[in-house]
Amino acid sequence: GSVEQEVHKRMLDDRIREMFYLLHSQNIENTTKILIENQMTSLMALSGKLEKLDGSEDRRKTLRSELASRIHKSIDHLQNPTSCADAKTLLCNLDKECGFGCQLHHVTYCAITAFATQRMLILRRDGQSWKYSARGWTSVFKPISKCSYDEAVGKTDLKPFTENSPARVLSLGIVDSLTIKPEFLPQAVPQQILRNLTAIHSHPPAFFVGTFISYLMRFNVETIEKLEAAVQSMKLSRGPIVGLQIRRTDKVGTEAAFHALKEYMEWTEIWFKVEERRQGTPLSRRIFIASDDPTVVPEAKLNYPDYEVLGSTEIAQTAQLNNRYTDASLMGVITDIYILSKVDYLVCTFSSQVCRMGYELRQPTGADDGSKFHSLDDIYYFGGQLAHEVLVIEDHVAQTPQEIDLKVGDKVGIAGNHWNGYSKGTNRRTFKEGVFPSYKVENDWRTFEFSALLD
Ligand code: GDP
Repeated sequence: GSVEQEVHKRMLDDRIREMFYLLHSQNIENTTKILIENQMTSLMALSGKLEKLDGSEDRRKTLRSELASRIHKSIDHLQNPTSCADAKTLLCNLDKECGFGCQLHHVTYCAITAFATQRMLILRRDGQSWKYSARGWTSVFKPISKCSYDEAVGKTDLKPFTENSPARVLSLGIVDSLTIKPEFLPQAVPQQILRNLTAIHSHPPAFFVGTFISYLMRFNVETIEKLEAAVQSMKLSRGPIVGLQIRRTDKVGTEAAFHALKEYMEWTEIWFKVEERRQGTPLSRRIFIASDDPTVVPEAKLNYPDYEVLGSTEIAQTAQLNNRYTDASLMGVITDIYILSKVDYLVCTFSSQVCRMGYELRQPTGADDGSKFHSLDDIYYFGGQLAHEVLVIEDHVAQTPQEIDLKVGDKVGIAGNHWNGYSKGTNRRTFKEGVFPSYKVENDWRTFEFSALLD
């Protein structure tokens, strides 16, 4: 189909979901509520059928995989220069003081920066000192380059990163330390591929970020064996499975609000109902729970007897509680993220980097997983990103003091979706901040000319 056809099909799917959020949040009398929810379920199932019915999804899947390998090949090309000592290099320090997801996102930011400025990315001391493993980066991953730190950097003078610096070796700090935010920062999409990618994927920036994370997270042989064993034990072929990532412990009350298991399960059950209608067959309920809170899996097993509950290992969970990392806890978080990238639907809080990594890793695998999730809090973002702006496609006149006016063509810097039919943002024309109906805007992704992208 044409790009327009695809875009409208996705928009329809999106609008149905927004309508569902609106109705779901209303205080409606029970029998009417059930009727409405059943009708919405039926609509979402129809929309899901449309995605697959005409057989073109197989074609799109191939195109998505091809595009992901094209980006991987382009990264590969920069990472493996003919001469390590002459290649323009960007040095990245793996040991940012934060959790695994946060560290990997930092390296992803380094990798995108290296790609945008056509440099080879090298980890400081090849990632040998890493709080997650005494054996360093290669204890779980493949090296990111054929060049070692000594060959590429050695005793070369380091200059701090600026976008157009001619120095051979630049050192990049954390994203928060940038004084000028370069245009290539997420959620920019390579200008060369935006149109085609829009036709085959519902969330182009997550796809692009995901290809970088999947490049960095190329597992070594030992890790692949362990991950495959873990996935085998999930018996994914036995039917669809929903992944829940429930971030608790140190995050709750500091960086995110507490969400009860019940909230995750509600969206899980809605997905199963829609999927049953789409497939036209009853489905047994299966979930995988990843969490840093060891009480969640037992709670799910006790309170949801109709569900088969699979959970991450206790070793993985206790690591966070004690803030002590071992090779086993590293394997634990990697396994959780890997499994979250394989499930059919994801329910989590996008405020957690573990949850966002699972989401990102899902994207370049072939399936279009851009909308196969429900976040209980934030919309998708990349830490340190440039402002996420959307385009107004329908006028709006504020109905309450909390709302803002919109005019077609306005740009709105988006702060979040309240998952009740409304989103919050700042109108760039009026400088007013407030809520507005989510369906009155559309995504308008920023682009950057990534010259390193091969044809
Ligand atoms: P965030 O704090 O949730 O945004 O993510 P970070 O990755 O920066 O830090 C959280 C750390 O807690 C992770 O790196 C893990 O060590 C641990 N953790 C959090 N959630 C999970 C989970 O679902 N499974 C496992 N195995 N570990 C988790």
